[in-house]
Amino acid sequence: MSESVSSSVPSSVGFDAQQHAYQVRIEAMLNSLGEGLIVTDEHGTITTINSYALKALGYQEGDLVGKWMPKSIIAVDQSGRPMQSLRRPIIKALTTGRTVTSYSYYQTKNGAVMPVHINVSPIIIGDVPTGAIEVFRDLTKEQQLDVAKDEFVSLASHQLRTPATAVKSILAMLASGDFGPLTTVQLKYVEKAIQSNNRQLQVIEDLLNVALVDAGRMELDLEYTDLAHLLNEAVSDHIDSLRQKDQSIKLDCDSQVKVLADVQKMRMAIDNLIGNASKYSPPGTFIKVELDRQKEFARLQVIDQGVGIPEEDLPNIFTKFTRLPNEMSSKVGGTGLGLFLTKSIIELHNGKLSVESRAGKGSQFTVCLPLKWSAPS
Ligand code: ADP
Repeated sequence: MSESVSSSVPSSVGFDAQQHAYQVRIEAMLNSLGEGLIVTDEHGTITTINSYALKALGYQEGDLVGKWMPKSIIAVDQSGRPMQSLRRPIIKALTTGRTVTSYSYYQTKNGAVMPVHINVSPIIIGDVPTGAIEVFRDLTKEQQLDVAKDEFVSLASHQLRTPATAVKSILAMLASGDFGPLTTVQLKYVEKAIQSNNRQLQVIEDLLNVALVDAGRMELDLEYTDLAHLLNEAVSDHIDSLRQKDQSIKLDCDSQVKVLADVQKMRMAIDNLIGNASKYSPPGTFIKVELDRQKEFARLQVIDQGVGIPEEDLPNIFTKFTRLPNEMSSKVGGTGLGLFLTKSIIELHNGKLSVESRAGKGSQFTVCLPLKWSAPS
């Protein structure tokens, strides 16, 4: 018996030392993390916070540990208004038992506002929620880079548009014989130059529009518009280029489907969808454009028999600069901006753009536009 007591003393000391070493390692690990980490108990009271979080928020450990998180770390919306406690990710994770991911803004101790990406997971032990763990990332640098990139795109495209437009006028004068008659060969090359210049201007226009969308400055000039009429015009304008590619198109539409729309921008969106249906389809295929009235919205569909889009790529195609590596992409030009702009334009009209597609089986893009319209909030 005495043997067992004496042997238990050194083993308990060893256990404490081991536990201390373990704790030191865990703390070192948490403090080396390049992201903010906050652990709370089941009520949302902060129990642990790492160095990154303290530094980013400008607090000392004593300012926050033991305090209720929603009141001690202030989250605000984009306009600086404090967020309600119940809407905070930490509280949502604790009350629902689910992982919550969101973007928000934290107010630092000196009042500055820091954009953050937040991920909070409940800590469940034996089915019982015992707290939550939040990891947040300071997005200040990423946001600054985004702004710089948007400014660059906007500036570069403005600077490019002026000379490209001047070239357009000169080429048009050349082609129409303003500087004397051209030989057949000369005219052929001037026409090629006109095509290239048009493509160049299209890319510049897309970049300028993307810059407007990113800055939240794309504005709509709304009027009641007959979508059937707009589609008729768009389809007619595409017929020649489709014929050259041995493709055909059919329009099937209810007459007089009127929606409130910016004619020029809606036309840009429709042209993008028809243009893509043609670009990503081989010769000999058929494009169907349909318009009908549903209960509360107009539904416009562009259906092709082209290369289709693999399921795993579907969520990415509306992201700017996305181009999928399919058999057509290398043959046809593109910037990966068309669908981003199309979606942005449709959403500015309070509508929705969706896609159904299967690799090798063609694609179906659907636009739904409200028949009764209220401005987006
Ligand atoms: P772009 O055509 O300039 O590359 P988009 O933004 O219009 O850019 O389209 C993004 C990508 O989505 C395209 O590069 C293509 O891979 C794919 N895509 C778009 N429309 C279709 C379609 N109708 N069929 C198959 N793939 C398509």
